[in-house]
Amino acid sequence: NQTTTWDKVDQYITERLIPQDSVLEEVLFANQQAGLPPFDVSPSQGKFLSLLVQMKGARRILEIGTLGGYSTIWMARALPSDGHIVTLELDPSHAQVAGANFSLAQVDDLIELRIGDALGQLSQMEQEGVEPFDFIFIDADKPNNPNYLQWALKFSRAGTVIIGDNVIREGEVINKNSKDPRVVGVREFYDLLAEEPRISATAIQTVGSKGYDGFVLGIVNS
Ligand code: SAM
Repeated sequence: NQTTTWDKVDQYITERLIPQDSVLEEVLFANQQAGLPPFDVSPSQGKFLSLLVQMKGARRILEIGTLGGYSTIWMARALPSDGHIVTLELDPSHAQVAGANFSLAQVDDLIELRIGDALGQLSQMEQEGVEPFDFIFIDADKPNNPNYLQWALKFSRAGTVIIGDNVIREGEVINKNSKDPRVVGVREFYDLLAEEPRISATAIQTVGSKGYDGFVLGIVNS
C-alpha cells in the first residue's frame, strides 16, 4: 500500500538525516497530551523550513498559524541570535501550549506570539508600523489563504520568501467543482499568485507521513 511506503520512506529520511532531538520529541508529546490536532509539519518538512530560512539568511519571519509551535521552533533554531519571529494563533489553548514549548526549546526570546484572529492581528501590525519580513510561512485556515497572501505581500520587500502549506490536498486542488472551502481557498490562492506580478512562485507536491499534499514557494520581486 502506497501510504505505508510513503510513511516508511519518510521515517527512513528522518532517521538518516534528522538527528534525534529530545526537545522536539517533547514538543510533539506536549501537543498530543494537550489534545492539539496533529497538523504540525513533519520532521522532514520542519527541517526543510529551517534549511530555507538558513539559505535565505532570514532575520525576520512571519508565521500565520502556530498550533503548538513545532514549525516555529524549527525556524527559530535557524535564526541568528538577533532574529525575530512573529507567529499568529487564533486559539488561546493552542497558543498556551506553544508558549510553553518555546520556553522548553529555549527560543522564547526570539518569538513574539500574538493571539487572536490572524486578519485582525495583521491589520493591527500594520497600524503598529511593523517592519517587512524576510520569510513568511502561511499555515492557518486555508479559506483565508488569498487574504493572507495579500498581507504577506504588504509585509514583504524584494527577496522575501513566501511559503504556503497544504496546497495540493490529495489532488483535490484540481477539482474546480469542489465545495470544500479549503479547496476553494487554495484555488483562489493559485489564481492570485498567477495574476500577481510582484511574486514568482511554484508549487511542489509532497508525499510522506502527512499524506499527499504540497506547498507553494515564492519569491517577491519588488
Ligand atoms: N504551523 C504549525 C506547525 O506546523 O507546527 C501548524 C499550524 S495548524 C496547520 C493551523 C493553526 O492555525 C491552528 O492552530 C489553528 O488554530 C490556527 N488558525 C486557524 N484559523 C486561524 C485564524 N483565523 N487566525 C489565526 N490562526 C488560525
